[in-house]
Amino acid sequence: MEDKNPFIMAQEQLDQAAALMELDEEAHRILREPQRIIEVNIPVRMDDNKVRLFRGFRVLHNNARGPGKGGIRFHPQENLDTIKALASWMTWKNSLADLPYGGAKGGVICDPKSMSQREIERLSRGYIDSIKDFVGKDIDIPAPDVYTNPQIMAWMMDEYAKIKGYNEFAMITGKPVEIWGSEGRGNSTAMGAMYILREAARLLKIDLRSAKIAIQGFGNAGMFAFELVNRMFGSKVIAVSDSKGGIMNEEGINYNELLKVKERSGSVSDYNGGRKITNEELLESDVDILIPAAIESQVTEANAEKIRAKIILELANGPVTVGADRILSEKGIMDLPDFLVNSGGVIGSYFEWVQNIQGYYWETDDFYSKLDKIVTRSFNSVVRMKKEYEDKGRRITYRNAAYIIAVDRVAKAMKARGWY
Ligand code: GLU
Repeated sequence: MEDKNPFIMAQEQLDQAAALMELDEEAHRILREPQRIIEVNIPVRMDDNKVRLFRGFRVLHNNARGPGKGGIRFHPQENLDTIKALASWMTWKNSLADLPYGGAKGGVICDPKSMSQREIERLSRGYIDSIKDFVGKDIDIPAPDVYTNPQIMAWMMDEYAKIKGYNEFAMITGKPVEIWGSEGRGNSTAMGAMYILREAARLLKIDLRSAKIAIQGFGNAGMFAFELVNRMFGSKVIAVSDSKGGIMNEEGINYNELLKVKERSGSVSDYNGGRKITNEELLESDVDILIPAAIESQVTEANAEKIRAKIILELANGPVTVGADRILSEKGIMDLPDFLVNSGGVIGSYFEWVQNIQGYYWETDDFYSKLDKIVTRSFNSVVRMKKEYEDKGRRITYRNAAYIIAVDRVAKAMKARGWY
C-alpha cells in the first residue's frame, strides 16, 4: 500500500528532482528536513468556563531566500508531518514564483466548526502568544489556510501589536482590508489558478467555453474557482463536492443556487438540481478539467488509473500522491502541481506585505495584472524546463520540472550564503 504520509511524499518529490537535476548531495540533505519546528500547547478558556489545551505547530522549512511564509491551518486532523510537508511545499512555491521568501506553515489541532467565535478568537490570540518570538515581518509571516480566514488574521495581528506595543501590519497577510489587507487577496489563489488554466488550455488547444469541469472542495479556493470558470471562460461546472459529499449535473450546476444551499445547510450535497455523488465519483467523472481544491492525498495509486480529465489543476496542497503522479503521467494527463497552480494566494500575500511595508496602496487592477504576470511567467518556465529535459530524451512530469526550478534557486541561495 502506498505511503500517504505527506512529509514522506514531499521528501520523495524532492528526491526525484534532486536525482534529475544532480543536486549537490549536501544541499539535498539540508533541504530534506525543516530548519525549525515549534510545538506549543495553548490553554484556552472555553465558553463553559473550562480551560482546554490545544496543540499547535509552526514549522520553518527554509529561509535561505527570505523570511518564512505560509498559512496557518485549524484542523481536527492536524499533525506535525502534514505541517512539515506543507512548509516545504511553501519553500518551493515561493521560490518558483520568485518571491523573496522561504517556506513555513503552521497549524492547530482543533475543530473550528464546533467552536464559538469567541473561542476561536481566544485560540487565535493564544497561538500568537505562544509563537511570538518566531513570527514577524522579517522572520516568518503567517496567512490564512484551511479553516482560517481574514478575521482570524486580524485577531492575530492585534495580539502581536499588543505584545510589541506597536502595529506591525506586515507580520501577517490575508487580513481584512480595514486593517490593510489587500484588495484582491481574498480570491487571489483561485484567480492565479485561472491564469494558469488559461495558459494550459491554450497549450493543449482545449476550448474552455465548452469545457466540463469538476471541483472537489467548496472552501475559499474551490468556491471562487467555480465562480471564476463560469465568469471568465463560460465553462460548465458539472460536479462539485465538499467533505459531506457531492452532486453532479451534466447540464451544469448553477453557482448562485449552490451558494444559497451551502449557506443554508452547510453542504453542497443538499443541492437538489442534480444527483448525489461521492467524492470518489467526482474525481473519476468524465470531465475535461479536474480541480482538486480540498485537502491532500485525494488522487492516489488506487484511483489514478480511473481519472478521465485532460488537465488536473491542483488547487489544494498535495492532492496527488507520488504513486499517482507516475500513473497520470503515463496516461498523458497534464497534472499541474499545487505549488504552481495555487501560488496566487501567496503572491497576493506578497503584494499585501509589500504594500504594508511601504505604506503605499495600489489599485486592484495593478494587483491582478501583476499576479497574472508572475503566474504566467512561472507556468512558462515550467513548460520550458519540461521541454528542455524532453529534448534530451528524458521524460519528466510538470511537478518534476517545477521542483527543478524551485530547488535550484534555493540551493544557489544556500550556496551563496555558505551553508554548504
Ligand atoms: N495558505 C496559502 C498557501 O498555501 C497562502 C500562504 C500565504 O499567503 O502565505 O499558499
